[in-house]
Amino acid sequence: MTNKERGILIVLSGPSGVGKGTVCKALRRYAPDLVYSVSATTRAPREGEQEGVNYFFRSRDQFQRLIQQNEMLEWAEYVGNFYGTPRKFVEDTLNAGKDVILEIEVQGAMKVKQTFPEAVFIFLLPPSMDELKSRIVGRGTDSQEAIRSRMTVAADEISLIEYYDYAIVNDRVELACSRIQSIIVAEHCRKERV
Ligand code: 5GP
Repeated sequence: MTNKERGILIVLSGPSGVGKGTVCKALRRYAPDLVYSVSATTRAPREGEQEGVNYFFRSRDQFQRLIQQNEMLEWAEYVGNFYGTPRKFVEDTLNAGKDVILEIEVQGAMKVKQTFPEAVFIFLLPPSMDELKSRIVGRGTDSQEAIRSRMTVAADEISLIEYYDYAIVNDRVELACSRIQSIIVAEHCRKERV
């Protein structure tokens, strides 16, 4: 009997534009018991984003200090900004027997893989590369050059899929959510956990 009391850490990752944020938002409705880790970032808040709800917004100096003090479970630099998962909240929540989900990019997920191998790694895939491109274009936030570079990065990120436990195609948000919920149920039934 191991891990019975401890929650499961779920890492949801995948290329930029695949819809990780949208799926996580929908999961809040479908799986209200799942706890969401709020990341720290050095990027500026977007309109409507709130401190401690969407992110903990920190200066680069503050973020570096958090890294030095080993307060980050993982962190990565992404498009010129730092993003990271505060360690204490995740550990306290797992120790309290609750499942935690991290919505993070691929470099950070690979770091969690090294430091937290018992986590469950889920890769979110676009239905096709053309569809991924049209989602990135559809956001209207990227130049032609940025779109090309995101697509190149996405191809590299997808090549890391072999390190993940599960792959889910994000064709419909509700379906992706129900697949994630099924994975969580299955993981709780693993014989090592009961
Ligand atoms: P955005 O700036 O659009 O909110 O996020 C940019 C990227 O950073 C997304 O792919 C998002 O999943 C990722 N991200 C958000 N929080 C974290 C984190 O704590 N760690 C890592 N490694 N990536 C994160």
